Amino acid sequence: MMSQSNLARQLQMRFDSMFSIPFIVTQINTGSHLGFDVYPADTDREYGFGLEIRFTAFRISIKFIPGRFSAHMIRQMGNASTEKRLSFVSYYSAALNERGEMNLLINEIPSAITDFKQWPTDWYHFELRLTRMPIVSDDHDEVDYLHVAEHWGGYMLGMILSLLDVVPLDDKHDEGYSEGGAVQIQSNRYERNPLNRTACILVQGCTCKVCNMNFLATYGELGSGFIHVHHTTPVSQLTTGYIIDPLTDLVPVCPNCHAMLHKDNPPLSVRRLREIMESVDLTKTE
Ligand SMILES: [Zn+2]
Ligand SMILES: [Zn+2]
Repeated sequence: MMSQSNLARQLQMRFDSMFSIPFIVTQINTGSHLGFDVYPADTDREYGFGLEIRFTAFRISIKFIPGRFSAHMIRQMGNASTEKRLSFVSYYSAALNERGEMNLLINEIPSAITDFKQWPTDWYHFELRLTRMPIVSDDHDEVDYLHVAEHWGGYMLGMILSLLDVVPLDDKHDEGYSEGGAVQIQSNRYERNPLNRTACILVQGCTCKVCNMNFLATYGELGSGFIHVHHTTPVSQLTTGYIIDPLTDLVPVCPNCHAMLHKDNPPLSVRRLREIMESVDLTKTE
């Protein structure tokens, strides 16, 4: 077996922590162009799926690759609950918002995301491709391939994994503190769901929206990708069929600010907490 390239290993680690499941990532070079193949490690790839991530000079294109015997998995995706379809939709719309070009075919028919309630349930064929061009931003002439692959690959994996049962819903995990009678954060299931958390971070990044703390900037590689996610809609206002909008309903916050938001019930708004921080007279804290 070929040894894994450094880039591939880094991309794998990022996907692993994004979705809390292990992946296999291999680097593919076609001519002078870079690419990656990505597979969930725990499933037999003949029965599961993979992603082909390919770069050309100014473009990234990512394709869903079903395994040879993936009929059962495709059927399972078609039968996904409305809640799972909604999670798919939130990733899809977020990628669209960032001007990703999407091609979705269900049972060989081009399918619109707005019709997700009318999609058939008996899927025998599923095609999904995401293209983004250009991948060079105005202020950089060097492409950060790892970051681009992570970002758009994250959207693609999020869409597919939303329809499957492979991402563990982390119900035991508690982001609160209990020592010394300090604040207990009552995180709800929207905050604990790794798919929601990942969508929020992909769209809004890893910097605290209250105090601008960034774990990568503070702790280096150790803090890479670390942040809490706060859900801004009070649980009491949630109705069934509620669509999480990763841009407005979820907000990345550091654990300190998260704890302070939850010091009130219902929690403080991000704007209010920022105002409180700004009004504190630092000379009086000693
Ligand atoms: Zn903060
Ligand atoms: Zn919260």
